[in-house]
Amino acid sequence: MIQYSLKCKESHQFESWFQSAEAFDKLRAAGMVTCAVCGSTQVEKAIMAPRLNQKASEPEKALSQPANPAEQAIAELRKKVEENADYVGRDFVSEARAIHEGTAPERSIYGEARLDEAKKLVEDGVPVAPLPFNPTRKTN
Ligand SMILES: [Zn+2]
Repeated sequence: MIQYSLKCKESHQFESWFQSAEAFDKLRAAGMVTCAVCGSTQVEKAIMAPRLNQKASEPEKALSQPANPAEQAIAELRKKVEENADYVGRDFVSEARAIHEGTAPERSIYGEARLDEAKKLVEDGVPVAPLPFNPTRKTN
């Protein structure tokens, strides 16, 4: 259990116990951490080191796990994109255009494009969509 000093957007301070730092993040993301004074869900950890009771040196587990539902969703989308689309890196713009014009094989691709380049593609009727993560080359 961890005790956090919390502060809502109205600057009410209160203390609350959580199973773990991760549990706090999850509850907060779900809007289930509320101010003890006004009931606001806009709650943040007050700047103060959390007081750990007993096993302070318990190893941090699942450090690489996404911390909240939004990150989880992005991680899943990323996996799907990486499994189903070809990474073309900086060639994204020319490749997307070539596919649109029929000079490259029709397939799903992802890569990097500057915002102005992406806008130009959309203007020219090439279907592109921004990804909520930084695309990188497949590692496997
Ligand atoms: Zn409050």
